[in-house]
Amino acid sequence: MVPWLGEEEAQAAAAAVLSGWVAQGPRVAAFERAFAERVGAEHGIAVSSCTTALHLALIALELGPGDEVIVPSLSFIATANAVRYVGAHPVFADVEEATGNLTPETVDAVRTPRTKAVLAVHQGGVPADVHALRAACADWGLPLVEDAACGIGATVGGKSVGHGALLAAWSFHPRKVITTGEGGMVTTDDAGWAERLRRLREHGMNVSAAQRHASSKPIAEAYLEVGYNYRMTDIQAAVGLVQLGKLDAIVARRRELAARYEQSLAGVPGLRPVRDPRHGEGNFQSYWVLLTEDYPVGRDELLAVLAEAGISARRGIMASHLEPAYAGHGAAPLPVTERISRDSLILPLFHTMTRDQQDRVVAVLRGRAGG
Ligand SMILES: *Cc1c(COP(=O)(O)O)cnc(C)c1O
Repeated sequence: MVPWLGEEEAQAAAAAVLSGWVAQGPRVAAFERAFAERVGAEHGIAVSSCTTALHLALIALELGPGDEVIVPSLSFIATANAVRYVGAHPVFADVEEATGNLTPETVDAVRTPRTKAVLAVHQGGVPADVHALRAACADWGLPLVEDAACGIGATVGGKSVGHGALLAAWSFHPRKVITTGEGGMVTTDDAGWAERLRRLREHGMNVSAAQRHASSKPIAEAYLEVGYNYRMTDIQAAVGLVQLGKLDAIVARRRELAARYEQSLAGVPGLRPVRDPRHGEGNFQSYWVLLTEDYPVGRDELLAVLAEAGISARRGIMASHLEPAYAGHGAAPLPVTERISRDSLILPLFHTMTRDQQDRVVAVLRGRAGG
């Protein structure tokens, strides 16, 4: 991944610095409005990362000790960790092989009377089937939170990921499709949650710095509950506004490059590239390929061959339950998760990638397959 940043972002950041508003201010408010509108949510609450966004989303649901939250193990570890932050217990569910995402069936397999919520991920930018998951969660009486860290620009049934979500958490880390350096967002249609999360990101204060600044009279703030400093800065939001304006171009380019990979790799035995699911379109944030037994070498050897050719690929999505931080945590068998994590790799794909660069990657993959 190489973020697509330029002079426009640099100038927007410089304007924020020169305005004197460098912490959370008017640009954050503008970014929240623009982002929420883009994904079709009523409210956006900008925060410092997707990890802190997930933490706040789980606080909104008032989860705590004794509660179980079903999460995919096949995800960046922050997904499971957020459950730990509120004192609840992450229960790892398996994923379907085609998308790397939870399904109603994989969730149901680990559901217990202590299950209090489901946290689904739009893994690598492949949208989860949220219509099926929302219907199942409604039947079970469980709230569905969406880890949309990788989801911006992906769609389900023609609507943006995040549309109709109870609570969705987003990331603007440089590995994602659009970036603010570090940064995150919660989106929701619930005005009560939005108000509480705005307060919680700012130490639990009942008046924001912007409101105090705008008032002609001195305002004494009160701290209504124990909150956090999870704010985004106006410098970040200034960059985010420019990036949001480029989103359509970025996603179109990523989909074009993904289609070209798919074509060029067709017929290579033992390679199964990630594709759009039936229910939506991905943003191809992570272009991963799964190696099957028909490919002549294993994943780690292929990564080494690529590295030798000067190509920076990465191991596939991690399996959180196998990390030392989750030693002794316990999990049901997760065969698909372990297979995808062990046998997949993420190929280079970035906005300014040239045909030549892409052809070099394809040549190594084909060459090693003897094709
Ligand atoms: C990147 C990522 C996160 C963490 O995002 P940050 O903004 O770096 O905190 C969480 N969940 C998933 C699925 C991710 O890919």
